[in-house]
Amino acid sequence: MSDFATLLEQEFGADRVQREVALAPFTTFKVGGPAEVLIETRTEDEIIRAARLARSAGVKVTMLGGGSNVLIADSGVRGLVIRTRGGDVTPIGDRLVKADAAVTINGLVRWTINRGCAALEAWAGTPGTVGGAIYGNAHWKKTNIGDLIESVRLVKPDGTLLQAPADRMEFEYDYSRLKRTGEIVLWAAFRVTPGRDPAALRLIARESLAFRKRTQPLESPSAGCIFMNPDPSRDKVPEGIPPSAGALVDRAGLKGAAVGGARVSPTHANFIINDGSASAAEIHTLVENCRHAVKDRFGVALRSEIICLGDF
Ligand SMILES: Cc1cc2nc3c(=O)[nH]c(=O)nc-3n(C[C@H](O)[C@H](O)[C@H](O)COP(=O)(O)OP(=O)(O)OC[C@H]3O[C@@H](n4cnc5c(N)ncnc54)[C@H](O)[C@@H]3O)c2cc1C
Repeated sequence: MSDFATLLEQEFGADRVQREVALAPFTTFKVGGPAEVLIETRTEDEIIRAARLARSAGVKVTMLGGGSNVLIADSGVRGLVIRTRGGDVTPIGDRLVKADAAVTINGLVRWTINRGCAALEAWAGTPGTVGGAIYGNAHWKKTNIGDLIESVRLVKPDGTLLQAPADRMEFEYDYSRLKRTGEIVLWAAFRVTPGRDPAALRLIARESLAFRKRTQPLESPSAGCIFMNPDPSRDKVPEGIPPSAGALVDRAGLKGAAVGGARVSPTHANFIINDGSASAAEIHTLVENCRHAVKDRFGVALRSEIICLGDF
């Protein structure tokens, strides 16, 4: 592995490659051990070069965007971690906007609102990047990010590039084909409606921000919702309980439950918050306690929305 880090240094320069660097600060949970090797890429070309080099050396690649949907193990992540940074937003004609993987959803929201392009305004306040949002097909109210996308530029694990139209991305609730293929997002083209009044779009954005502030524990480190909501076609939620993961955790009596520095949020039972002292192991134990309690009490097997990276 030190050979690979040296190779990477030769390609990018020694100042660009970090070894055994703590990942906790790069996540919204603020937990997690080190990356064996970390590179922060600034362009599409750098992602491609780093991914190809890792492939030819047989080194595993883990992508990190905003770190807002991950629980990184205390022992960290072996192999190469590519943390995407920077990126640009550029119009493609009137009705499409190209956003690099590293662009934050909030940055994209601001860009589109300022140009009077409608589509993303209600997503204001969604943490993370375009790459991470596509990976898990992020959702807001009744819309999935995949609903807004025309196509996605990808690097395949063999290093080749391809342009996948949205209908080939296998977008479903909390799912895209990336979970199956290990492909990397380089950029995505979003469909927008031009010619709208920025002030009206800004109002919608503000409503979303206010809703989040009312309903989510934004003052504490978290990774958003821990569990996916039950799927009515396969999960039988007992009558009288709203079909949401948060309601199930709450009714199972775990709202406010704690393991070490990790606590089920008293504001939103599908959030676990870190009081600043939690380890990844404590958060993981609390996640499993919630899962078991809901299964025992209601027979519903909750599936994780957060992505665990490293060994648990
Ligand atoms: C307070 C709070 C509120 C939230 N609200 C919402 C919400 O309303 N809706 C929602 O859906 N989510 C929500 N989340 C979760 C999170 O914001 C989203 O899942 C977000 O899309 C994750 O993006 P990210 O860049 O942070 O991804 P990361 O956490 O960095 O990574 C998530 C996964 O994506 C992969 N990945 C990242 N970049 C790439 C890439 N370029 N190519 C391929 N794979 C990649 C990673 O390997 C990882 O498996 C919330 C989180 C927080 C903390």
